[in-house]
Amino acid sequence: MRIANHAGRAVLVLGDDQAADIATVSEGAFGPDLPGIYERWEEFTAWAATVDPVADVTLERAALESPSPRPSQVVAIGLNYADHAAETGYEAPQELPPVFTKFASSITGAFGEIDLPPGGNTDWEVEVVAVIGRTAHRVAEADAWSYVAGLSIGQDLSERVLQFVGQAPQFGFAKSYPKFAPIGPWLVTLDELEAAGLDRDDLALGCAIDGETVQDGRTSKLIFSIPRTIAKLTEVLTLQPGDVIFTGTPDGVGFGMEPPRYVRSGETLRTWVEGIGEMEHTFR
Ligand code: ZN
Repeated sequence: MRIANHAGRAVLVLGDDQAADIATVSEGAFGPDLPGIYERWEEFTAWAATVDPVADVTLERAALESPSPRPSQVVAIGLNYADHAAETGYEAPQELPPVFTKFASSITGAFGEIDLPPGGNTDWEVEVVAVIGRTAHRVAEADAWSYVAGLSIGQDLSERVLQFVGQAPQFGFAKSYPKFAPIGPWLVTLDELEAAGLDRDDLALGCAIDGETVQDGRTSKLIFSIPRTIAKLTEVLTLQPGDVIFTGTPDGVGFGMEPPRYVRSGETLRTWVEGIGEMEHTFR
């Protein structure tokens, strides 16, 4: 199942541009907003398995908002791929990767324009985003996937100079300009990935600027896999339905290039994850 947040309404995605409004199909039992559905995720998925929806919505790219537009928490993981840690001059984490937040005001959808802050040091980071489907605290790694509603695509856009102002890294602050947290174009459930013959622990992900591929990785290379990340996080945090986890970026960021290469006004960033789809943003 693919579920999108289309113009603020939860829809079941049925084809490339066709969808069914969940509030209409369920006669008001679920929706119209998507965040409320995560609160009743188990009940919702049981219902969704019984319906055969008819398309009544034509999807428009500009209307595809984040599948979790106002999570109670945005958790982001740093240095979670060894090649990326190496390109940024850090050692790969052993016990615990860096954990930080992107402030929720930076969330946007999968398509559109993004204003560059002054300075010209904005970098890209393709990531798989996990959306939580039930309250999670002290979760064992072996059970952790069952707390995930589904996966989406994220870009952890980062202002690299601000990120290193001061004595300790300003990860959360420098990664939270408006629209610096695109998520989308929809949520894909784990059974949908399996039905497509994909391994939820080994998905290809990447991004390209004006057609030139800059990142090209696989989630099987995560140092802390998604279930291990959730187990680690919930040793401390209580994750709530709708919370999102940016799971880390593979190598190929602009900061790691010699000389560093950042996005310029007019350039288009295309971001993809296998089995989920793609996002596209133009900078100005
Ligand atoms: Zn990141």
